[in-house]
Amino acid sequence: QGIVAPDDIQALCESILQQAQQVGGGKVADYIPALACVEPEQCALTLATLDGKLYQAGAAQQAFSIQSVSKLYGLMLAMQRVGDELWQRVQMEPSGQPFNSIVQLEWEKGIPRNPMINAGAILVSDVLVSHYSASKNAVLSLVRQLAGSDDIFADADVHQSELNHGSRNAALAYLMKSFGNLHSDVGEVLDHYFWQCALSMSCEQLARSFAFLANRGICPFSGNSIASHRDTQRINALLSTSGMYDQSGQFAFEVGIPAKSGVGGGIVAIVPDFGVLAAWSPPLNNYGNSTRGMYMIRELANRLGLSVY
Ligand code: GLN
Repeated sequence: QGIVAPDDIQALCESILQQAQQVGGGKVADYIPALACVEPEQCALTLATLDGKLYQAGAAQQAFSIQSVSKLYGLMLAMQRVGDELWQRVQMEPSGQPFNSIVQLEWEKGIPRNPMINAGAILVSDVLVSHYSASKNAVLSLVRQLAGSDDIFADADVHQSELNHGSRNAALAYLMKSFGNLHSDVGEVLDHYFWQCALSMSCEQLARSFAFLANRGICPFSGNSIASHRDTQRINALLSTSGMYDQSGQFAFEVGIPAKSGVGGGIVAIVPDFGVLAAWSPPLNNYGNSTRGMYMIRELANRLGLSVY
């Protein structure tokens, strides 16, 4: 399949969205009760290219719970704040285990396998809580700056719902604490982690906010330097190996671009030197990845010939 001419990209996005709406299967996350109320048929697709073009289909401006996609914002801040020291406390290896798995964490003495699974993101939250006097504000201002929008908030109901039903994440945090790898107060760390998971954003905002990852660290819209080229390469590498959890291998095989999913049904995918894809639909497969979101990203990437391999 050849590269589609730019004029056709808008039509392509619309037809992929229509096909995705026919894709059945999957189940909306209900282990966080506030997420179970989301209308499952919703569907959105955005492609933001580095030359400033935006191709959108469906509910691309509808905000949804970004959940684990927020792990990227936290990681960026922590990498900038503590530098290479971070990699003493979290590894960079794929886990091959579900995103909320606890077994490996015990074997590996409280050092999470990577920052894209829950244990790793809780560790990163600990770094943020201990290095920022107001860690939530630090994340929020970064997100708003990157998305070019002040209209971004954490959903208080989702945040509370996660706090009320967060026993497994609390178990991960306490296990890391018992190994001496969590430094701040566990309650504060979990509160930060759940808060960032509860951020609500649209596909359009997500796609804009990650454009710097496709552009060697420079935001193509503002010209601001957001991260070093080396850090963007590292983040994209982590996304390729771990961003889709224990389905990362299959995603690399079938799609071939760095990506991150969340249990709100969102997926962002980074195409270096080209742009960012964002897709959303709430029903999830067994790995916690959006079924229609995966379909849309795979189709668009394959039709446009975007695999980095
Ligand atoms: N807040 C969710 C959790 O901690 C995030 C998981 C996800 O999006 N994969 O379980």
